[in-house]
Amino acid sequence: MNSQLQSLITLQKYDLRIFEILGKKKKHPELIKAAQTPLLEVSKQLQSLQAVAEGLHKQRRDGEQELALQEEHIQKIRGRLNDLKTNKEYQAHLFEIELAKKKKDALEESVLGILEKVEQNENQQKEFQSNAGDLKQAFEYAKSKIEGEISSLDQELASLEQDHSELTKQVEGGLLTRYLKLKALRKGFAIAEVKDGACLGCRLQLPPQLVANVKRADELLNCSYCHRILYWELPSEAEHESAPPA
Ligand SMILES: [Zn+2]
Repeated sequence: MNSQLQSLITLQKYDLRIFEILGKKKKHPELIKAAQTPLLEVSKQLQSLQAVAEGLHKQRRDGEQELALQEEHIQKIRGRLNDLKTNKEYQAHLFEIELAKKKKDALEESVLGILEKVEQNENQQKEFQSNAGDLKQAFEYAKSKIEGEISSLDQELASLEQDHSELTKQVEGGLLTRYLKLKALRKGFAIAEVKDGACLGCRLQLPPQLVANVKRADELLNCSYCHRILYWELPSEAEHESAPPA
C-alpha cells in the first residue's frame, strides 16, 4: 500500500483514540462527583440529626430544670403545714399539694418523652454513621479506581501525542492539510475503508471503476459523495493466517 495512505490510516487511528481519551477525561470530574454523592447525602442527614439532637438536649435541660423547681415548690408548700390553723386551711393545703404533684407528674412525663426522642436520635445517628463509614470506603475505592484510569489514560495520551507528532512529520504537507480539512469536516473521520463496493464513511455504493482504482492504490482517491480519502479493506490477520500456502 501507498506509504502515505498507510500513515494517514494510522494517523486517524491516533486521532480517534486521542479524541476518545479526551472525551473520557472530560467525564472524570463528574464521575468522581457522582461517586461522592451518596456519602455527601448521608453526611447531610447526619448533620440534620445532630442539629435535632442539640435541640433535644436543650429541651431536656429546660425540662429537668423545671422539674427540679417544681419539686422545690412542693417542699415549700409542705413546709407551711405547721402554719395552718383551721380545717379549711388544711383542706386547701392538701388541694394545693395535689395540684403541684399533678404538674410535677406532667413535667416528668414530658422529660421522659424527650429522653425517648434522644435515644431514638442517638440510634439513628449510629446507623447513619455506620452507613457513612461504608459509603466513605466505597467512595475512596471508586475514586482511586478513577484516578488510576486517569493516570493510565494520561500516559497513553502522552505516548499517542508523541507518536502522532512523529507520524505527522512523515506525511507530505499538502496531504496533511487535506487530511486535516476533511477531519474537521467529517467529525474526525477523514479516511474511510472501502468494503463490498461501498464507502464505510458514508455507506454509499461507489462506482466500480473507483473501487478498482482504490484497490490498485496508485494514487489517493476520494469518495465521490463524502470526499473522504479511500483505502481498500486490509485483509485481517486471521484471514492471512488461514490463507492456504501458495
Ligand atoms: Zn463516502
